[in-house]
Amino acid sequence: SKQLTMALLVLENFIGGKFVPCSSYIDSYNPSTGDVYCRVPDSGKEEVEAAVKAAKNAFPVWSSKSPLERSQILNKLADLIEHDLDAFAQAESKDQGKTITFARTVDIPRAVYNFRFFASSILHHVTECTEMATMGCVHYTSRVPVGVAGLISPWNLPLYLLTWKIAPAIACGNTVVAKPSEMTSVTAWMMCKLLEKAGVPHGVVNVVFGTGAKAGEALVCHPDVPLISFTGSTLTAQRITEKSAPHCKRLSLELGGKNPAIIFDDADLNQCIPTTLRSSFANQGEICLCTSRIFVQRGIYSEFLKRFVAEARKWKTGNPSDPTVDVGALISKEHLEKVRNYVKKAQAEGARVLCGEGVDSLSLPPDNQKGYFMLPTVIAEVKDESCCMQEEIFGPVTCVVAFDTEEEVIKRANGVKYGLAATVWSSNVGRVHRVAHRLQSGLVWTNCWLVRDLNLPFGGMKASGIGREGAKDSYEFFTEVKTITIKH
Ligand code: NAD
Repeated sequence: SKQLTMALLVLENFIGGKFVPCSSYIDSYNPSTGDVYCRVPDSGKEEVEAAVKAAKNAFPVWSSKSPLERSQILNKLADLIEHDLDAFAQAESKDQGKTITFARTVDIPRAVYNFRFFASSILHHVTECTEMATMGCVHYTSRVPVGVAGLISPWNLPLYLLTWKIAPAIACGNTVVAKPSEMTSVTAWMMCKLLEKAGVPHGVVNVVFGTGAKAGEALVCHPDVPLISFTGSTLTAQRITEKSAPHCKRLSLELGGKNPAIIFDDADLNQCIPTTLRSSFANQGEICLCTSRIFVQRGIYSEFLKRFVAEARKWKTGNPSDPTVDVGALISKEHLEKVRNYVKKAQAEGARVLCGEGVDSLSLPPDNQKGYFMLPTVIAEVKDESCCMQEEIFGPVTCVVAFDTEEEVIKRANGVKYGLAATVWSSNVGRVHRVAHRLQSGLVWTNCWLVRDLNLPFGGMKASGIGREGAKDSYEFFTEVKTITIKH
């Protein structure tokens, strides 16, 4: 109906410093109610072409600004987002289904910090220099921005992950065309409204909204986009790799995980249990770094399981805008079905579901009855070869299994195709080092989880990705290096 259409939020692409309407749109749902509440441009080749053109035009001026000038603009943008933190957090929660508390304390503060961090780090890089005295030569390296960067981000941490790409890309002097997930586009659109005020010149940041198949692929295939930074699933990364191969593009791929937590019998369970609950269920388990395989040493297995399940049951699932709620809605109806099916498959294989899905009842406020909710679910006695122990579920589901020896658990933890993050719990420092060294994982947290220093590399091994991001790594990715030799 006309009235309903008028009430919908309608997004527009942001190209060359202007909001431009699109010829067709896709519906975007509020995951906590199941209602369509927003329309997102369904961009394709034409829109991507216009955005790339704008980014190309803006490149000469932006790339010749000093790092300090760019830094000041990034800081201003950080201040403006921070000023509107609450509005951004509410929008992110509504669009994604995540709790308002998570959006307020994690997503938006981190988006702000991404700009501040790269505004600072860009000022501190030094290039290399070597001397060949006998040849009368010095060699030095020089780094220059690459050009138009294509940035593609997923739906789980929308503004957080998009700004983790935009900030280093523009700090280094590139211009960008970004394509956020079609399911979570609102906060990127809100950010576009602040760019001019922050002093970002027209065309430096362009955002095209739409699906991966249309808008994403047009960006990946565009000959004037020499570099693609992608965060998303391993399957999509394979497609992007194939599509970009004829152009020899530079790719950074941050992909899925099947992250183990290894808990030895000398672990401090008072710290380990609350942290492992968070690592399993934070953001509805929709974080690439979430724990989904918990290996507990046999001596403490029963105690761990009992306490872990009792605590998991205390997590409150419901309306994401209620600040007392711990678990919001999953991103979509399809995703909820997929996550539920994993639990069903585990049951069919003889695993025990100890709490959550199918075991406990979920009561929701009347307005949320059609939302995509699911209780935190703990599964025990799952075989290592089961799909629940091998595939990324990306929901509030975690598997707990027992182990006996260090040697055994390392082998089992490494026995998946992924290698993104791992956590190790033990009070034995020697053991922690040994295990951390042998785990096939881009990140290993011992006796903690999700403590990040953005200076250091972030990224995965094996099917979890190619490349790393961080102060130095992102700088290297978003610049071309040249070696120059001077003979005197
Ligand atoms: P996805 O791969 O379906 O989509 C990610 C983005 O790629 C979206 O913007 C999508 O529109 C786009 N896309 C889809 N098909 C495309 C194509 N053919 N060409 C170009 N672009 C295309 O992933 P998702 O479901 O949005 O996100 C969840 C996944 O992301 C999980 O696997 C999760 O582990 C992963 N992830 C990884 C990290 C990390 O840093 N390693 C962080 C967050 C999420």
